[in-house]
Amino acid sequence: MKTFSHCPACKAAMLNEVIVSHPGSVGRWRLGCLRIDHEILAYTKKGDDNILECLDIAIKMASNKKDRVYANWDFDKQELKITEGWFGPSFYEPNAVIPYFEPDLTQYSNLIKKMKTYMVFS
Ligand SMILES: [Zn+2]
Repeated sequence: MKTFSHCPACKAAMLNEVIVSHPGSVGRWRLGCLRIDHEILAYTKKGDDNILECLDIAIKMASNKKDRVYANWDFDKQELKITEGWFGPSFYEPNAVIPYFEPDLTQYSNLIKKMKTYMVFS
């Protein structure tokens, strides 16, 4: 999936920070918009800033802040998992695995509704 520069939920510029895991290694970018009503984090592919490797979107199941999970898209593996924290599969066991689809970020609220529906039935 292509990297995006503006938040699909609020249209603000995504905050960019470079992530270098080892000194001297190729960095990648973390793009984020963390607000009260939405949280989005995306990571670019190492060596190609124009392509996203993964994307995390918070999904609130209730107004309680603890009552939220994260949808984690892994575009390389074509996996979509629901986890209890950021960074998805590498740190957290998935609560659920959803049939993979590419997220349509132009319809953000529809995407959240779709994810909630999937989660109810998974
Ligand atoms: Zn935003």
